[in-house]
Amino acid sequence: MTGTTDERPDNRRSTRFRLTVILCAALPMSFAGWLGWQALAGDGSSSAAAAPAAVPAQVVTPTAPSSRPATLAAAPSPSLPAATPTPTAGPLNGRTVLIDPGHNPGNVDHSAEINSQVDVGNGHKECDTTGTSTDAGYSEADYTLDVSRRVRVILQARGAKVVFTQDGDRPWGPCVDERAKIGNDAHADAAISVHGDGAPASGSGFHVIMPAQVNAGKADTSAIVAPSHRLGVLVRDQFQAATGEPYSNYLGEQGLDTRSDLGGLNLSVVPKVFIECGNMRNPGDAGRMTDPQWRQKAAQGIADGLTAFLTTPAAARSAG
Ligand SMILES: [Zn+2]
Repeated sequence: MTGTTDERPDNRRSTRFRLTVILCAALPMSFAGWLGWQALAGDGSSSAAAAPAAVPAQVVTPTAPSSRPATLAAAPSPSLPAATPTPTAGPLNGRTVLIDPGHNPGNVDHSAEINSQVDVGNGHKECDTTGTSTDAGYSEADYTLDVSRRVRVILQARGAKVVFTQDGDRPWGPCVDERAKIGNDAHADAAISVHGDGAPASGSGFHVIMPAQVNAGKADTSAIVAPSHRLGVLVRDQFQAATGEPYSNYLGEQGLDTRSDLGGLNLSVVPKVFIECGNMRNPGDAGRMTDPQWRQKAAQGIADGLTAFLTTPAAARSAG
């Protein structure tokens, strides 16, 4: 619809390389800790910081959605595994990132709970939804958890504290208002909700959703509209650079959309965006999203966007 699906912003590569340089400088200190976490998590995807394009195919199996959760769910808390009680030294030291894996694989079995209404400030919405799936049955909830966990590995290697809204460790939910509250309570420096879209099959591409100005009931997005817009642009740029996925051709403009109906954004008091990584009902997007190597690239792009937001000089930040 926006007709911009073939844009390939070359200048974004330079941003990425700059990030890589910063990260390489931090690597000697962070690598040991990162390796420890990799060993713990059983995820040998060495592309995390230094070589995002080189994803070793053999270390991420296609059956990852069923095998990874059990391994990672063994972590004692949703924040950091026991082997790394303090964040790894890196450029994101002292920063907290909230990652919200959209939906929950268990929602499908808890329709009464997730259909209950919650207050999102300017109205009421369902607590949560089941999410969509590919035609072949790969669920959005499995997709979002897998990508979110990959993002976590990368961000922790860069020194961030990462908080999840759910980690496959609860039977359903949380509700959208609680998803916002978890980020608020964590005083997250940035927050992202990871999704795959369920649009008509003819549509393809990804888009990032940013909060609209909402002042209604308990929703007040005044303080987060500007920083969330900056976060949204950076996530869009880095996601496209990492994946090559075109902007959505059915929604938004230049890969960006603004919405006032999402409780997860309305109720957030920390900079937050959603990313719809692709349309799971579209055969091309579905094929990519089902591929663990592509999901690693998606995670890389999301992590790079968050990192760019958190490491941009304050002057640029105040400029909005
Ligand atoms: Zn979703």
